[in-house]
Amino acid sequence: MPRIYILPLDGVGTYILDRIAKGVESCFHLSPAILPAITVPPDALDASRRQYHSTVILRRLAAHLPPDGLRILGITNVDLYVPRLRFVFGEAVIHGKVAVVSIHRLRPEFYGQASDNELLAERTIKEVIHELGHTFGLQHCLNPQCVMFFSNTVQDTDRKLSQFCESCRVQIEDKVTTAS
Ligand code: ZN
Ligand code: ZN
Repeated sequence: MPRIYILPLDGVGTYILDRIAKGVESCFHLSPAILPAITVPPDALDASRRQYHSTVILRRLAAHLPPDGLRILGITNVDLYVPRLRFVFGEAVIHGKVAVVSIHRLRPEFYGQASDNELLAERTIKEVIHELGHTFGLQHCLNPQCVMFFSNTVQDTDRKLSQFCESCRVQIEDKVTTAS
């Protein structure tokens, strides 16, 4: 049975990792496994932006994929960016095996609110399912409640559900069955 591997990259607590694992399992019906944490690749840091280039991290993740790994998902607390955007919640290779999600801007504390592990877990699961959806070939969906809706702000993440809309669900079931 191929697995989805979760690779913590610095500063992500076990509660969030366990919740991600459960969310992945119930969404994709594939058994996830959590790998030992590694440090964020230092060359992904843009010192002037004080953010990490997510595409550089993605390139490194592939080397950590175990032989039975279907996908590898990096999860980090550092702030991620791609050059054309101010920040990203995550990035994935479409039809690829790698994805990364940052909890940095999913934390209520980032917006001056009280810490809330449950809310953080819900937001993280949505962005994780979204990025894994890309690895199975799904594009962005225009339905604001669908997990494949692009989150420009955390409000977008809060509005969407941790599920695929009907149209995306049909696609993902087909793609996951083919891949696994
Ligand atoms: Zn996306
Ligand atoms: Zn959709």
